[in-house]
Formats: sequence, structure tokens, C-alpha cells
Amino acid sequence: MQSSETFYDIIIIGGGPAGLFTASNINFGKVLLIEKGERLARKLLISGTGQCNFTHAGNISTFLKHYGNNHRFLKYALHEFSNTDAISFFKEAGVDSVEDKNGKIFPASLKASDILQALASACKSKKVTILNGSPVIEVSADAGLFSVKTATNEFICTNLVITTGGLSYPATGSTGDGYQFAKQLNHTIVTPKPALCAVNIQDYHMEALSGISLSDVLISLYHDGRKTAEHRGDIVFTLKGLSGPGIIDFSRFINDGDTLKINFIDRNISDFNYDFVEALKSTGKSALQTWLKPYNVPRNLLRYLIEEAGAEPDQQIAAISRQTRMKLATLLCECSFVVAKAGSFKTAMATAGGVSLDEVSPKTMESRLIKNLYFAGEVLDIDGDTGGYNIQAAFSTAYVAAGAINKSKK
Ligand SMILES: Cc1cc2nc3c(=O)[nH]c(=O)nc-3n(C[C@H](O)[C@H](O)[C@H](O)COP(=O)(O)OP(=O)(O)OC[C@H]3O[C@@H](n4cnc5c(N)ncnc54)[C@H](O)[C@@H]3O)c2cc1C
Repeated sequence: MQSSETFYDIIIIGGGPAGLFTASNINFGKVLLIEKGERLARKLLISGTGQCNFTHAGNISTFLKHYGNNHRFLKYALHEFSNTDAISFFKEAGVDSVEDKNGKIFPASLKASDILQALASACKSKKVTILNGSPVIEVSADAGLFSVKTATNEFICTNLVITTGGLSYPATGSTGDGYQFAKQLNHTIVTPKPALCAVNIQDYHMEALSGISLSDVLISLYHDGRKTAEHRGDIVFTLKGLSGPGIIDFSRFINDGDTLKINFIDRNISDFNYDFVEALKSTGKSALQTWLKPYNVPRNLLRYLIEEAGAEPDQQIAAISRQTRMKLATLLCECSFVVAKAGSFKTAMATAGGVSLDEVSPKTMESRLIKNLYFAGEVLDIDGDTGGYNIQAAFSTAYVAAGAINKSKK
């Protein structure tokens, strides 16, 4: 017979935004939230550089395109608990919101700790028992009950929610433990990879251009020589490669060894050649750099590309050989970068991959394999773009899981 101290109706493993929000929304029974770290939600506290960009403005339907190929899974959850619901939840908890010029929503105080405080208070008002500093080391299911073991205790529950996050920023406690638990419970894990990260480039010689940024460029991705995806966004040159929202939001698709081709001038090679040949007829004496000015490539980058093509910035365009022009066209319209390393878990802001969505119901977050087992947040095979989409997904999936658990009681 299980003692009443170690039996719970619901156990939630992981005290990040998904775990805390699940706990805040459970309406019955004894609830235990077990957090590995001494402090709750360490990743939430550093999110948005400590300001916590917890959601994004706009119609919730527009959110879907910000979650890569798995966005359909989130449709129901995002509508059940939307961005405006998140803003209202925190307002009612005394945390006003503010929107920046890009539509990112933050607490008005710009303090992530206010968001954590609101979540912790909501758990307190629901009388959730929180056990900090207690990594769960093993879970198992038997005869309709779950056993959850820490180093010192074994707890038993009827409903188990796994909200252990992904693998990124492991110093915050997200070390992929939930994937092990899910595997122990027969779930499939889609191989995790770093997402929302900058990429390092092979044989990179553009260190001197570090800090130069370009807006809204077209980035094409090639795998084994075949184009697999394209994306538009802002990019920044770094000391080791490429970053900026255009790269970071695209990184879920990028693998080591892939090639990125960047179009710096928004013209294709034949358009550029046409422009060039037309210019030869009228302004052949123009210096190459002067003639290229209207394409709006930052000056130092343009000089670098001209020199890479084997020309001189002050060379008259009439003096440029066909071969040099073709090289320049390729550098301007399809500049190739071979990816040495598509980020690391140490620096990635999110994890792509995780618990396979085929085995989880999008309307309840309940396992399709084991009754009363639920997953929420980044442990699932979901990753969003930068801009508040990941924390919103954690809240929405948590809300749906809690709702389903509440319903199962009736
Ligand atoms: C630097 C950085 C900045 C970010 N900024 C933003 C932002 O501004 N907006 C946004 O939307 N997203 C942002 N993100 C992503 C966002 O923080 C995560 O997607 C979100 O925190 C995921 O929530 P979660 O609750 O699913 O997982 P997590 O926040 O990872 O929480 C999981 C919790 O589970 C605990 N845990 C793990 N294993 C165990 C175990 N065995 N036993 C007990 N507990 C365990 C962990 O200690 C952790 O507290 C950022 C991420 C990083 C790294």
C-alpha cells in the first residue's frame, strides 16, 4: 500500500514554464512538481536576455508558420490558449505587458523574474507541492500507475506530465532527461539537434566583416548539392560565420556540411548579367564599386566580394572580363557558405526534435501509447522561431494538458 505522503494524483517533472503552467491550471487533487535545480525555471529567467519575450503580437493563426514543419500539431493548443490569453493571464496576475517595435511581447518591467513570480504564485494558490533540487532519475508505468524515482524517494501517481525541456543551454537544467523517461515509456524520440543558433562556416575568411548586417536577404539551403529549403531574413556576419534572425530562425533545417547560398542583391545571376551588359552600353567607364552602389550591399562587404571575384573596386566596368563578371555575379547572387557546425546545444536557444508528435494527441498532449501520460513544452518535437514563439508553445501545450487532466477527473 502506498503511503499518502508519496502518492499524488498528478506529478509534473520539470519546473520550467511548461511545468509551472501545467501545475497552475490543474483544478483537482494532490499535485507534485519536481524540479531538478535548486531554483525554478532557470531558462525562463535568462530568456529574452533576462527580459522574457513570452509571446508575440498578432493574430494567433499567423503563429503557425513560426514552428517549422511540425506547426500543424500546435494549431489546437495555440487556439485554446493564445497569445492574448497569455497576456491576459499575466495581467490578471499583476504583470502588465509591453510590445516592442517587432511585435515581441515582454513584461512591462522587462524582468523575466516577474513572469516566474506570477507562475509560482499561481502554483501556490493551487496548493501545488514543489520539490526543488531533486532530479528525477527513473520513471515507469505499471497497472495504471506511474512510479517516479529521485535519488531519495519513490513517488506514485495516476497522471504523469513530462515537462523537462530539451537539450539546449544544459546549464539551466535541460539535459534531455525527459527523452530518457519517454523512451523508458516506449516513446520514440526524433533525434534532437540544436535550433535557434548561429552557424560556423568552413574556411571562413570574413572575420574582418564581423558585425556587418543585411536586411531581408534570400538564403537558400543545399544538402548534398540539392536545394532543400529557402528563407528570407536579416543576417549578420560573425567572427566564425553567420548569425542574425534570418539564420537563427532557419537553423532548425541546417545540418553540418550543408551549403547556404545567400543572395546579397535580390537579383538572380541572369538579371545581374543583363544589368551589367546594359550598363556596358551606357556607362562602361564607371568604376565597378560606384556602379554597384544602387544594389545596397554594405561597402566593406562589397569591396570584399569584388576582390574575391578578382576585380578592383575602382576598375572600369568595361575592363572587367566575362569570367570575372560571372564570378562576381555568383558571389553577389549565390554566395556559397559551407556549414562547418550548425550550432551547439551549449549556445542554441532551442532544441529541434524530441518526443515524436505521432505518439501524442494534439488536443490533449496525452500519450497515444500510455493513458494518463502527458508531455508539454520543449520536450516535444516542436521548436519555434525567435520572438516569443517557444514560451507561448510551452504555455499552450501545458494549458491543453492540464485541461485534459481536469476533464479526465470528471
Ligand atoms: C538564452 C535563451 C533565451 C531564450 N529566449 C526566449 C525568449 O525570449 N522567448 C521565447 O519564447 N523563448 C526563448 N527561449 C526558449 C525558451 O526559454 C524555452 O523554449 C522554454 O523555456 C521551454 O520551456 P519548458 O518548460 O518546456 O522547458 P525548460 O524551460 O527547459 O524547463 C525544463 C525544466 O525541467 C527541469 N528538469 C530537467 N530534467 C529534470 C529531471 N530529471 N528532474 C526534474 N527536473 C528536470 C529543468 O531543470 C528545467 O527547469 C530562450 C532560450 C534560451 C536558451
